[in-house]
Amino acid sequence: MLNPRQALALLSVFAIATQAADSPHVLRGYSSQSSASEMQWEEKFKQIPQQDRLRENMRRLSARPHHVGSPYDKDNAEWILAQMKSYGLDAKIETFDTLFPTPAERSLELLEPVKYKAKLEEPALEVDPTSNQKSEQLPTYNAYSIDGDVTAPVVFVNYGSPADYEELERMGVSVSGAIALARYGLTWRGIKPKVAAEHGAVGCLIYSDPHEDGYFQGDVYPKGPMRPPFGAQRGSVMDMPTYPGDPATPGVGATPDAKKLPMSEIKTLTKIPVMPISYEDAEPLLSHLSGEMVPPAWRGSLPFPYHVGPGPAKAHLHLKFNWDRKPLYDVIVKIPGSKYPDEWVIRGNHHDAWVNGAGDPVSGASPEMEEARALGELLKQGWKPDRTIIYCFWDGEEPGLLGSTEWAETHADDLKAHAVAYINSDGNGRGYFRAEGSHSLESFVNGIAKDIEDPETKMTAWKRARLADISRAAGPMKTEARTRPDVRIDALGSGSDYTVFTDHLGIASLNLGFGGEDAGGGQYHSIYDDFYWYTHFEDTDFAYGKALAQTAGTMMMRLADAGILPFKFTNFADTIHLYITQIKELDTTQRAHAKELDAEIEEGVYQALVDPKKKMVPPVKEPIPPYLNFAPLDNAADDLTRAAEAYEKAFTAAPMQGSAALDAKLMKSERLLTNSEGLPNRPWFQNLIYAPGFYTGYGVKTLPGVREAIEQKRWTEADQQIVRVAKALQDEADLLDEATKDLGSH
Ligand SMILES: [Zn+2]
Repeated sequence: MLNPRQALALLSVFAIATQAADSPHVLRGYSSQSSASEMQWEEKFKQIPQQDRLRENMRRLSARPHHVGSPYDKDNAEWILAQMKSYGLDAKIETFDTLFPTPAERSLELLEPVKYKAKLEEPALEVDPTSNQKSEQLPTYNAYSIDGDVTAPVVFVNYGSPADYEELERMGVSVSGAIALARYGLTWRGIKPKVAAEHGAVGCLIYSDPHEDGYFQGDVYPKGPMRPPFGAQRGSVMDMPTYPGDPATPGVGATPDAKKLPMSEIKTLTKIPVMPISYEDAEPLLSHLSGEMVPPAWRGSLPFPYHVGPGPAKAHLHLKFNWDRKPLYDVIVKIPGSKYPDEWVIRGNHHDAWVNGAGDPVSGASPEMEEARALGELLKQGWKPDRTIIYCFWDGEEPGLLGSTEWAETHADDLKAHAVAYINSDGNGRGYFRAEGSHSLESFVNGIAKDIEDPETKMTAWKRARLADISRAAGPMKTEARTRPDVRIDALGSGSDYTVFTDHLGIASLNLGFGGEDAGGGQYHSIYDDFYWYTHFEDTDFAYGKALAQTAGTMMMRLADAGILPFKFTNFADTIHLYITQIKELDTTQRAHAKELDAEIEEGVYQALVDPKKKMVPPVKEPIPPYLNFAPLDNAADDLTRAAEAYEKAFTAAPMQGSAALDAKLMKSERLLTNSEGLPNRPWFQNLIYAPGFYTGYGVKTLPGVREAIEQKRWTEADQQIVRVAKALQDEADLLDEATKDLGSH
């Protein structure tokens, strides 16, 4: 994950703002008495995580490459298990077998106009002691690319997004029969071969331009943290917006008796062969393209003019994989609840990596281990959580969220019945606190961040996040950023283990981390994301690792012990109104755009402006979008606001002793946002409010059924989806009315 570092420059302006005096406060969902006792336990908890231990956990877990199926992956799982037991916790390993291809043959040659054989190799560096573990490192490759052998001219496609192909069309350039050369960035990598194949490309190469994470951003490794010329980004290209997890067992756990799809029926492999390369290997291809200069926004930081092609560069790409099934080892830790054992608060971070993975994922897994140790300590001191706490260390996140997806699919019925919330992290850096997730938990997250100290500024993590938010906000949002009681959290897209919980099962979820002052993605998925790199350039003293453990652990405790679960639905309703406004704006903008385009075509603007010496293709007329009926959505959202406010009023007046019956309704509140038929053309994605974009991959699309139908100009479907979402919001309002009655009956 890359964080906007620029925001920090502005932060100092606001840093003079002083922290509000700490008045004794009552935690949401707690009585004043239970609140005081909870805060005492939380204070004890926060004292326990140690920076030295965080460092040693990282040294141990990242000592050797530990991808799925490797000896050290299993070794790490067993070590985590032993540690959990030594903390006095009940832990076990759950295993699954999943399809996990590894490279058997890889080659890339430039055949014309000059010959060049790509190195496809990240060399060991003398200063970096784990970079020479060659026999255990996976080579640079994209997992779930199909096998292939193609020879074709090369076309540069920028980030390879749908909009980039529209631009190519205007330039009169087609990728049909060509190898698409895309750069990393903007879209998730799996989208690049998917869209390239849709446009007829026969192969795809994805390179790391120095503009995104190389010398344009800072000194390169080992002098600085950024990606060196020969660094390449491994990563999955599975079609995860269709479904993540084992490609052979969609929707069900990959247990031994699960029915496996034959290779020919699997939908989530790429359609064309694809491979990641370094910019050192991309340079000979890119510098031998002719044709038009690319548009200014397409230019990277290599020292030559970027042309689009096709050719004369002609390349030969050959890829063959071992299509084996490999074991996954999820470590699952359970602390039974004393009052509501059937209500589960769940925490997770993955333990598998592409190579040594100090940043991704160990900088998150190591704090997670410290949280578990600290809770073990509290148990010894007499603390008993009311609800059951489950700590998960996932395997197989990198190839396709395998460990979390297979575990959650296996236990889907139990999770739907018992899960309160899922709290995820996936690595950690240095800087300000960020959370994304379910908006019914937005106020809860804000409350937690107010009780966490930022290690550098000593202000609260909340205050710093608020100031960062003010500096980031634009226009009228600046005023809101200053005055809204809660800092807004972004919605979850995909890209980590929360996906199955939020998108498939409808479990309120959060993703947490600190960042913004570190090198972010500098060595993302390379052999150099290791202990040496992390301890020289990232959270070098683990102060923020400790802050993450304090934040996530406090969340777990506070959710587990609350008299009434601290969901707050007015924030959710407010956010829904925001999304509806955005969707209406999208519709209006599209209509205005289509009308203007038509007018300019009629007026002959394009004929007049097309440079006859260039082969620009004028645009064709677009259908004018019809007016959609947003009324069902508006009505349902208004009713949701009314119900949320009524709940809030009753909640404020209620004695904070909940009941299993009330909790059951509150847990169901996120479940109701799902629909068992799922989104159009992707039934696995069942949440009607949050989903990763079909053409963005990680990036979220809120109200996805409606939004994507509008974006992709399927108007009838848009109207149908509006009705569907409205129904879900109406059901949500009805549920809140029921919960309000429960509150009143105390
Ligand atoms: Zn990760």
